[in-house]
Amino acid sequence: MARKIMEKVPEAQLQNDLEKYRERAIELGATDAKVIPTDAVVIDERVLAKCTYPKCPGYGTNANCPPYAMDIEQARKVVEKFKYAIFVKLEVPPEDTAGKEAINKDLTLPYRRKLAEIVAKIEAEAFYAGYHLAVAFGSGSCKRLFCPDIDCITLVPGKGCPHHLKARSPMEGVGMDAYTMATKVGWDIYPIGLSTSPEEVPYGLRLGLVLIC
Ligand code: SF4
Repeated sequence: MARKIMEKVPEAQLQNDLEKYRERAIELGATDAKVIPTDAVVIDERVLAKCTYPKCPGYGTNANCPPYAMDIEQARKVVEKFKYAIFVKLEVPPEDTAGKEAINKDLTLPYRRKLAEIVAKIEAEAFYAGYHLAVAFGSGSCKRLFCPDIDCITLVPGKGCPHHLKARSPMEGVGMDAYTMATKVGWDIYPIGLSTSPEEVPYGLRLGLVLIC
């Protein structure tokens, strides 16, 4: 049953709900999740520079990535309006995230889809519990996840996203520095690029965020 929306949720109830969403993320398949205050959300222009140089294949292809996603100043203002978020990590085995085979076969795709599902479910559960402004961010372009073979219909004026229940902006697409945020909460994270072989890293990470209230 939906809970009524309150102007201000009592702190004890809020803390209880935040812990419930943290546990729920793990139940849904996350490796770990943390409740974080939103002043731990790092927003940095350099992250958007990394979307552009070299240009990400997702850039300009869908409504949730730059330059169509909310810009960095909007992202800062939005984050400042919230007090708490659920930060979610999903570990990816090294052989599925590093090396030629992982890249050529796009072996991270199921993990990115899983992360998208987890953060979207937390957002939806928070919404129906009265946190009507809850909003989720995933990892990577929604086009690659949900519309790999067709143009993004949402870029056509008047058309909504057919995957609106799960397609969200990637954290990096609005300037959130998920890597630094991971280090701040004590999660080890490694740089993985074209030259990284699976033996060099213990795992890769996919990271998502749900701003709750
Ligand atoms: S999921 Fe597909 S239709 Fe929706 S915004 Fe992404 S690319 Fe566009």
